[in-house]
This record gives sequence, C-alpha cells and structure tokens, in this order.
Amino acid sequence: MRIVFLGAPGAGKGTQARRLEERKGWPQVSTGDLLRAAVSAGTPLGLQARAAMDAGELVSDELVMQLLDERLRQDDCEGGFILDGFPRNRSQARLLGELLEGSGQQLDAVLMLEVDRGVLMKRLTGRRTCSATGKLLNIHFSSPEELAASRAAGGELIQRDDDREETIANRLAVYERQTRPLLEHYSGLLRRVDGLGSPDEVFARVSAALQPAPGA
Ligand code: AMP
Repeated sequence: MRIVFLGAPGAGKGTQARRLEERKGWPQVSTGDLLRAAVSAGTPLGLQARAAMDAGELVSDELVMQLLDERLRQDDCEGGFILDGFPRNRSQARLLGELLEGSGQQLDAVLMLEVDRGVLMKRLTGRRTCSATGKLLNIHFSSPEELAASRAAGGELIQRDDDREETIANRLAVYERQTRPLLEHYSGLLRRVDGLGSPDEVFARVSAALQPAPGA
C-alpha cells in the first residue's frame, strides 16, 4: 500500500510508521529524517535546509521534492511506502500526485493521527533519544525502567534542536496554517485515527483503519 500519515508534530506519525514498516514491510519514508541526514552529512542540500529547520519553518518544496523523488525511486519503495511528514502543504500534495501519476501509481490511504494540543506539547517537549541505544524516549511518559536502562547503557538523553519550546510553538502554527488544509484535499482517502494512548493502543487503531471496509 501507499500511505500518507498526516498529523501535527508529536502526533506519533514516526512511531506508528515505523511499526507499520516492521509489520508490513513497506518502508517508512520520513522527509524530516532525510533532511536531518543531509544536515548531519553536511551536503549542500543539508546546508540550505538547516536554517528553516532550526526555526521550525518548512524547508522549500524544491529541496524536499529532490530528496523525496530520489528516495521513492529506490527499489524498496516499489511495493508500497509510508510517507511520514510529507506532504506538508498543498503544493507538495500536488507535486506528489504528479510524481505518482508519472509512474502509474496512486495513494491508497491517508491516515490522520488526532491528538490534542496539550498532549502534543508534552510529547514534544519531553521527547529524547538515547545516545547509546538510539531508542526514542520521553521524560514525561517513558517508564522509570526504560529511563534507567538508557542510563545503564551509558546513554545520554539527547533533545532534538527543534524540540525546544519556542520552536515547537512555531512548528504547531505552521502545521495549522499549511498542513491542516490537506485534510480537505485528501477527504476521499482520509481515515481519522485517535492518536491518544500508548503506542500499542494507537497501532491497533491504525491497523483497523487500514482494513478494507466490510463489503468493499
Ligand atoms: P519532522 O521530523 O517531520 O518533524 O520534520 C522536522 C523539520 O524538517 C520540519 O520542522 C521542517 O523544517 C522540515 N521538514 C520535514 N518534512 C518537510 C516537508 N515535507 N516540507 C518542508 N519541510 C519539511
């Protein structure tokens, strides 16, 4: 299947997309991850993208499309993919449509993870990555055992630069202004999923939302 995950920053798109990849084998394609990799590798594209990312603004469509086009051409995307963090505005949705049409493909489903703002703020401000294990943790929600396991592995809890409070407020505003209108754009394919609860609970809803409708 070719799936788009929509939802505000912190809604759990990455977590759910990774689980779906593990379960179904369709690769998770996160434009945020592709951009961060370009920034850490110091590529010309990464250097151009960095200022917008640090400010919580969108990187230009041109740069993002360049990365996405290259990624979707790889063999592992042939049987389907899960887009996480893309498209983020109407013009990206249009460009994606053209890209898929050019190769005779189409989207099968658009999943919207719904989470209220108070929870989003807690998820984003608390989000950390363990430097030893690479595991995604949250200082508000991870269990004491999980946090202790990271310390025991000698890990430091690293916060993403754009997960600081000032930048988060801007990322949420950008989402409301530019990305939310996509709900209307994709109304025919849209399946809304309650994103509150544990990753397991949300994944059960994601899986149910991807089942064909009875009689379909
Ligand atoms: P994410 O990891 O999806 O939250 O993305 C982190 C940052 O990367 C965003 O705040 C944007 O600056 C940039 N970014 C990721 N995906 C896109 C996209 N589709 N279009 C423009 N900028 C993006």
